[in-house]
Amino acid sequence: MKKATKTAALVLAMAMAVSALTACGGGADQAANTAGTETANADAGQAVATKTEGVLTFGTNAEFPPFEFVAGSGVIDQYDGIDMAIAKQIAEDNGMTAAIENMEFDALLIALENGQIDAVIAGMTVDEERKESADFSTSYYTATQVMIVKEDSDIASAADMADKKICVVQGYTGEICVKDMGYSYEAFKKGTEAVMELVNGKCDVVVIDSATAQKYVDDNEGLKIVEDASAFENEEYAIAVKKGNTEMLNMINKSIEAMLADGTVSALGAQYTEAVTE
Ligand code: GLN
Repeated sequence: MKKATKTAALVLAMAMAVSALTACGGGADQAANTAGTETANADAGQAVATKTEGVLTFGTNAEFPPFEFVAGSGVIDQYDGIDMAIAKQIAEDNGMTAAIENMEFDALLIALENGQIDAVIAGMTVDEERKESADFSTSYYTATQVMIVKEDSDIASAADMADKKICVVQGYTGEICVKDMGYSYEAFKKGTEAVMELVNGKCDVVVIDSATAQKYVDDNEGLKIVEDASAFENEEYAIAVKKGNTEMLNMINKSIEAMLADGTVSALGAQYTEAVTE
């Protein structure tokens, strides 16, 4: 796909992060209400309590380009990506600095419950199960699951995966979707590992989030993306906070909504799609 088209698609996805469709296994039902939002303010009166005073500590899994990845120098220490820039802005809007704790995706909501981190920003899809252990912010991005296959693959729809070797990443919504479809699969710890299996011909298809899939297809020869909107519904990414921490949630929502309203989120989407496809 042409770069300009991809960028336009991502910007559109950002702008459209308002739908309330249900992802397979999910159910993002909160609305991203951006209209008429006040600008996030740095001097909100009472400071929101954080793990470390003056520092807003986000948990992430920096294996998910273009949202979070490790770079030579990133926006927060070595961490770069759309989510990292959003995290930094939220901290700055509130007179704090942002810090990142990088961990496995599966560990994020546990770390949140334990108070090890103040919030999770990890391209995390809102779903009913996760909502039982955390509260989610206004969503800032709409994604879908897609299939990455070899260019000569005969897989044209999700149903075609039935007799194929499927790779997913452990704990991602891709795994939940494939499990719900009743297919057997192999789960890897990292997206790059699953994609290497595909490149090496050891699996036939990788099911993963759309923007991340695009990054892997750009980086590896001979791969393509197959979409199936009837099998994979839209998912909403949002920031998670500890259940019941409404002060933190309100603070984050104010910033997110301002960034959606003034185009910051869309601009970051465009910027990081370019950056990771060079
Ligand atoms: N959106 C997917 C999920 O929430 C993947 C997120 C990620 O890998 N960081 O499961």
